[in-house]
Amino acid sequence: KKVTESASKRSYEEAAKRLKLEAEDRTKILPKLRVQSRRKYLEKRKEDKVIELEADIADDEYLFDESVLTEKEKKEREHKKTILQLAKEHEKARELENVRRYHMPRDLGKGEKGEYIEVDENEKLPHSEQRKWEQEQIKSAFFKFGAKDAKAQDEYELLIDEQIDFIQALQLEGNKEKKQDEEKSEYQKIRMTIEETKKSLPVYPFKNSLIEAIKTYQILIVEGETGSGKTTQIPQYLHEAGFTKDGKKIGCTQPRRVAAMSVAARVAQEMNVKLGNEVGYSIRFEDCTSDRTVIKYMTDGTLHREFLSEPDLASYSVMIIDEAHERTLHTDILFGLVKDITRFRPDLKLLISSATLDAEKFSNFFDEAPIFRIPGRRFPVDIYYTKAPEADYVDASVVSVLQIHATQPLGDILVFLTGQEEIETCVEMLQDRTKRLGKKIRELVILPVYANLPSDMQAKIFEPTPEGARKVVLATNIAETSLTIDNIIYVIDPGFAKQNNFNSKTGMESLMVVPISKASANQRAGRAGRVAPGKCFRLYTAWAYKYELEDNTVPEIQRINLGNAVLTLKALGINDLIHFDFLDPPPYETLVLALEQLYALGALNHHGELTKAGRRMAEFPTDPMLAKMLLASEKYKCSEEIVSIAAMLSVNSSVFYRPKDKIIHADTARKNFFHRHGDHLTLMNVYNQWVGSDHSVQWCYENFIQYRSMKRARDVREQLVGLMERVEIDMVSSISDDANIRKAITAGYFYHIAKFSKGGHYKTVKHNQTVMIHPNSALFEDLPRWVIYHELVFTSKEFMRQVTEIESKWLLEVAPHYYKSNE
Ligand code: ADP
Ligand code: MG
Repeated sequence: KKVTESASKRSYEEAAKRLKLEAEDRTKILPKLRVQSRRKYLEKRKEDKVIELEADIADDEYLFDESVLTEKEKKEREHKKTILQLAKEHEKARELENVRRYHMPRDLGKGEKGEYIEVDENEKLPHSEQRKWEQEQIKSAFFKFGAKDAKAQDEYELLIDEQIDFIQALQLEGNKEKKQDEEKSEYQKIRMTIEETKKSLPVYPFKNSLIEAIKTYQILIVEGETGSGKTTQIPQYLHEAGFTKDGKKIGCTQPRRVAAMSVAARVAQEMNVKLGNEVGYSIRFEDCTSDRTVIKYMTDGTLHREFLSEPDLASYSVMIIDEAHERTLHTDILFGLVKDITRFRPDLKLLISSATLDAEKFSNFFDEAPIFRIPGRRFPVDIYYTKAPEADYVDASVVSVLQIHATQPLGDILVFLTGQEEIETCVEMLQDRTKRLGKKIRELVILPVYANLPSDMQAKIFEPTPEGARKVVLATNIAETSLTIDNIIYVIDPGFAKQNNFNSKTGMESLMVVPISKASANQRAGRAGRVAPGKCFRLYTAWAYKYELEDNTVPEIQRINLGNAVLTLKALGINDLIHFDFLDPPPYETLVLALEQLYALGALNHHGELTKAGRRMAEFPTDPMLAKMLLASEKYKCSEEIVSIAAMLSVNSSVFYRPKDKIIHADTARKNFFHRHGDHLTLMNVYNQWVGSDHSVQWCYENFIQYRSMKRARDVREQLVGLMERVEIDMVSSISDDANIRKAITAGYFYHIAKFSKGGHYKTVKHNQTVMIHPNSALFEDLPRWVIYHELVFTSKEFMRQVTEIESKWLLEVAPHYYKSNE
């Protein structure tokens, strides 16, 4: 046994080493990969990305307010940030030495430098085709910044030694021409009063006819360009028209938390009321409404849950399913639910609002409901593609921003990135570069926006740009249609977004960076033409756009895990899911897998009906396995601990932080929390000690723990405790008996078991898949025989993250219907 153990340890070490090498090597690998097919590159990129993304996963999930920090806490945070930034800069300085921007070699096979010429024979064809295609398609002249203005160009070249060649390919047509006075008035908009702004929106002239249409028809599809005022204005119109007189509310769903919060804040401001009173919002783990609330913005997931307590939506007079084109899982399921309700609630008005051309499809689904089109106003947008693919789109975005800033007339810039981490990197790079350029360039106001950003920072993106300065907003695809930032003239689109994908064969779910669709690309470009003719810079080639991007994004329902959705539907009494009224049905296998899992968890009986346990599980807005774990804590008398663990798991990837210059310290600090039985209990240790320190910022700082994550965990925990009360589970502690805690975890996650095998690695019990313990785990060196894992992440190997040792006989105890004894 000894032999296998050390052999396996060695292979672990090797894997870890390889991972590290690969990360270091990335800058060298990329240029080569560039010449390989884009697809291979993307796959490689995905793998590399996963590690970086881990930290983002939890971040995108939750939103919390940071404005409550005290001055001292803020200072400490700043200090921490500076240290982190210094570390990153250090790292970057090193990287910069190696990175050279890749230009497509003139002649394939004969690059200027050795590193470019590794061309796969098979790859020659597509590239020569690509060149031909591009030559044919792109008749327009070469576009270089400042080409018209030789002086600006020279100055620019003095300033920045890198630049990207763009080619103008086509123009996104607008229906407006630039008129001198009009453009001016649009610019002046920033100084308009709220009343004037409201009147300037495209939806305003249609106020009365829209209200008429809503009064006439029960269901109406509303289609209008992003920024026309659908989300902020229509609920107000309805309120004014008396739809809230009888004490009923107007509801409006949003696929994104940030949008729900930000729009509610804006509407409260427009109506001159306090947020949370007449106008409020409700998102997972946070309800900012009151008895007085008449306009309520919420996430689509929240409305899902409201169906559980109010299946006929009796407290609403109007329900608006907004951003319908986003086709999130929750929105898709809502379509079926609200359609059903309108049949027995003739007084309920239903609006389906969408930014793009899916209106016909929605109309067909909703029994030929009429479509109300709000004519958009859009100025033409010139579209530019890069001449060659860009190896690093974050870096390329930075260069493009500076190029625009140095050579183009004033007007704000919007950059689309995939997540918080990327955005923060970009902010830092821009800050650093502009600082170095100093007074040589105009002021550049750099603003990030992503799901997890504190709300006061979110509000900043809407503040008018100071005179003579330029604003650059770095956003996730939240700015694609959910939020409209005025005065954007330039859009930079690297062509990627983060997407959740589920593999029904392995049951594995993962968040990855994928290329966007053509539809998304055009939405993004459209953001540049709202107030004046604009320009969109795509950091990919025209060829890639034409041949490598899908036309439309696949709806979420067809690509993610349905466990939670199925549980909610079952809890709503919808038993026949196969025949549920889906706009686009989910794949059969995914549905079956979800049912199977719910059955195994005891949430469904043999007839596929919800059990009592299932009903209780449905109370939790979480993955069914996590819900089951929470329920099981009742039996094992450890609800206090399990609730802490659940809360920590929801933020786990961002609990520990490792500044580059203090990696050893950080790792030692982390090891001090290690529990000998694994990571769940390690997380519990962290939480309990933080509580012991009286939730101290200083404590976090000293222990290399992210304060923000801890605060979030505390909020989530509070919500969970409330839900435990609802399902009547008392909060009791079993801190001295960790076997009980581990049993409760096992009761929820017995699907996620792996056994140490003879070959020196782990095999999952369900699919006999080879997996490894993540190098960050407390058990990385122990390799116990049986482990339970929270999730799998795929990088170069399948890694189990958040691993805890269990005893095999517990499986018989917690899931006797699922595991049989071999004896
Ligand atoms: P749509 O839903 O049709 O895309 P919106 O109602 O979201 O349009 O936007 C209408 C206008 O309201 C836009 O000009 C936008 O800039 C402005 N707006 C939306 N949210 C805010 C906010 N939080 N602060 C300031 N302006 C906002
Ligand atoms: Mg909207």
